[in-house]
Amino acid sequence: MKEKVSRNILDVDDSLIKRFWEKVDKSPGQGANGDCWEWISQSKDSYQRISYKNQLIYVHRLSFFLHHGKWANPMTCHTCDNPRCVNPTHLFEGTNLDNVKDMVAKKRHTLGSKNNWATITEKDVEKILSARMTELSATEIAKNLNLSSSLVEPIIYGENWKHVKRPDGISNINLKSRILNDNQLIQAITEKITTNVSYKELGKKFGLSSGNMRYNVRKFADLVPGASDWLNIERGSKLNKFDVMVIKTMLNTHSIKQISAIFDVAVGTVQDIKKGWRWKTV
Ligand SMILES: [Zn+2]
Repeated sequence: MKEKVSRNILDVDDSLIKRFWEKVDKSPGQGANGDCWEWISQSKDSYQRISYKNQLIYVHRLSFFLHHGKWANPMTCHTCDNPRCVNPTHLFEGTNLDNVKDMVAKKRHTLGSKNNWATITEKDVEKILSARMTELSATEIAKNLNLSSSLVEPIIYGENWKHVKRPDGISNINLKSRILNDNQLIQAITEKITTNVSYKELGKKFGLSSGNMRYNVRKFADLVPGASDWLNIERGSKLNKFDVMVIKTMLNTHSIKQISAIFDVAVGTVQDIKKGWRWKTV
């Protein structure tokens, strides 16, 4: 392809780079392959943008620039099919045609295990679905099968791997869906992040199981500004930002062992918090 002059040549300054990296979540388990870096944002747009000198720049585009030192021309494409992903190894410079080809390739990908990117097979999906029939939570199933929750959850909820036959009885009783209207969701999410009420208690108020309440709050957290950041400070973790703040305070008065018992987490987790290895931003 002939090299054209790039559009959007900007002198990217340090403050932009800093603002960009502050919102990159590199915790494992994101995206289909578990190695996406998602850009944290309150916006519900799938492609995220950052403002700079009265312009809005797509963050995946910026990530490509920061990695390669040039703007992708004409466009930046994802190999991972995750619009929020800014992992530079998942980005490539492409044309519209590439994007179309890429989409076709991904269709194949979503259809099953033939694609190199798939980390699980139909057999695993069957295992996951059978495990779900025994009423195990997504987290428990993921743990038992040594997979990430973000891989297991969409399978359980019937969002991925739809071509694998679901066992009789699983689809209706376990398929989670939006039940609350916007006002109820906003009320529930606000209550969760301001009082850290348990999902069980919150669910009672809205007539939902704790699992379904959790699903709804997390899925629609973006309705309340800042709620996603609050809830997803470390994905797949038992602890949320509120817990970590409490733990940090309790470290002054309680032993690590006591704290680990109170929050039902590993001693190592508390040690990591104490050393600042995890939840640095809290
Ligand atoms: Zn990715």
